Amino acid sequence: MNNLKTEIKEAVENKETMKHVLNYYLVSNKYDADTEFEQIRKQLLITAQKTTSWNETRPVRWIYLEKTLLEEINIGEFVLSKAKILEIAANTNQPISDPDEVEAFLGYYHRIGTYAYFKDLPDCVVMLPQWLANAFRCIVFADIFQDDVSIITEWNQFRTTGRLSENCLDRLFSCQSVEIKEHRDQILALMEKFDIIVRPKIKLESNEIVQESHYFVPCMTRTEDFAKVIGLFKCESKSSWLCLELEFLPPPLTTSLLIAYSRELAVASVVDSTGDNGPVFYSNFALFYLKDAEDEMLLIAAHKNIIQMQVWKRGHIKRSYSSLRQKINECIHRLGRFFQMKLCYKTKLKCSALSLTDCSGMEDIDKFKEETQYFCKIHSGFRCTNEMSSDWIETTLKQTLTKEQINASRMSMITRDVLTDALYDRLAMDSTPFRSRTECDIPYLYAELRRQNRHMPTKGSWGGSLTDIKDKHKKIGDDIERIRLIQSEILHLSPFAINSSRYTDLCRLVRDVAKRMELNNNKNTDYTNDVKDILQQGVSHKQFEEQEKRN
Ligand SMILES: [Zn+2]
Repeated sequence: MNNLKTEIKEAVENKETMKHVLNYYLVSNKYDADTEFEQIRKQLLITAQKTTSWNETRPVRWIYLEKTLLEEINIGEFVLSKAKILEIAANTNQPISDPDEVEAFLGYYHRIGTYAYFKDLPDCVVMLPQWLANAFRCIVFADIFQDDVSIITEWNQFRTTGRLSENCLDRLFSCQSVEIKEHRDQILALMEKFDIIVRPKIKLESNEIVQESHYFVPCMTRTEDFAKVIGLFKCESKSSWLCLELEFLPPPLTTSLLIAYSRELAVASVVDSTGDNGPVFYSNFALFYLKDAEDEMLLIAAHKNIIQMQVWKRGHIKRSYSSLRQKINECIHRLGRFFQMKLCYKTKLKCSALSLTDCSGMEDIDKFKEETQYFCKIHSGFRCTNEMSSDWIETTLKQTLTKEQINASRMSMITRDVLTDALYDRLAMDSTPFRSRTECDIPYLYAELRRQNRHMPTKGSWGGSLTDIKDKHKKIGDDIERIRLIQSEILHLSPFAINSSRYTDLCRLVRDVAKRMELNNNKNTDYTNDVKDILQQGVSHKQFEEQEKRN
């Protein structure tokens, strides 16, 4: 136990990360003693009461449906189709006949981890996550085959490269229980959904791009070969490093990030000892070809709690990679939602000549924006500064946007992200949203909240304009109206620009609304931090176009 504690302490070195550790419980993945679980249960109950979803209201008929579904689980039906669930729902004591409500039911229970349900896999709703975990384990922890001589070569290949041959896969499934065997295709589809297995596109040495026919299990691949693997690639120049230093970086996040990139970019490959093309795709680093750029490769690698990115070039091309920076920010934001984690990180840069593991030379990207000189310890001077800023900070495009256009883009981003979150969270506290967050916009959320009529604005009726709401009106309903009106103002901007005096007023307004809403929604400082981030970040041409187009 003490050894494990020390290991955890070493893995989470800084104070920021330590605050995620509440207590230690020792459980085995083979033998589970009830006492430990009872203690965990107690702690969970204490923790749960502090969370925002505690005491949320749900329709009572959902409980009837949950109970009826439990009977299915008890007779060994661990996987049901959505059609079957619709049928069951229509025949409980308190029937649900609206398919949208069943959709909301499944979406909600998926989010809280009771079932596993994906809209695009309607034939496969997993009713018992433990069953799914067992099925996954048969692949990820399949050490039982080590002694099976007939499969030893493929097994070793799997352990070193993560490539799961058809033969290997057959063997793995052949000794599983019947209900795992008969759901083989669905289990594999779910594993792809959960970013556990992937079939990446690989670029061969001949420059041909092929889709891998075998699955890869990136979390299985050994990682100590970074220097060796990377040493096989020659390039003439490299960009400086973009480093995202997270407070806490869970390993599955890195793997999911790499898998997300592999869905869009072709993975570089090396010919391995058996003559096969092995993708450079491991649990904590991967090398991709940038789209439409045959002579540029993108390395993404994690070291400790830092995700790092570097572009490798065949020639000495100079161009800005700030769009890559934007993209990785978006990707991490999306994964944060998927993992239901608030991912906080600082963006830093370091000189191209530094190695992945050398983190002492990192400097905050904001310093570059303020045009502070970067002292490079490798080159003993300041000459790397310009190159680093032109690699990752957009300088040319920024000039083409006017201040008023940047104001409008920022306000639009705040409305679409933070204020929509605030209304959605409000709705989720009052009732059960029938749609997931991504399917909701402000007009929909406003209409729902207004229909439920729990938060009448101070003036005693809904609707009206901003001038109807006085500064002293601080009810939840007043802020719901304010959000609708801000959104409507942004929507009707023509041209898409906001002058500086209006911008100052709007900034004050959204800050106040965000502050009150986060207090009322028990969201700590989530909204005010997000607003602050958006107001401080630069706006790229692409972001401007996106926001303008949406309006
Ligand atoms: Zn340097």
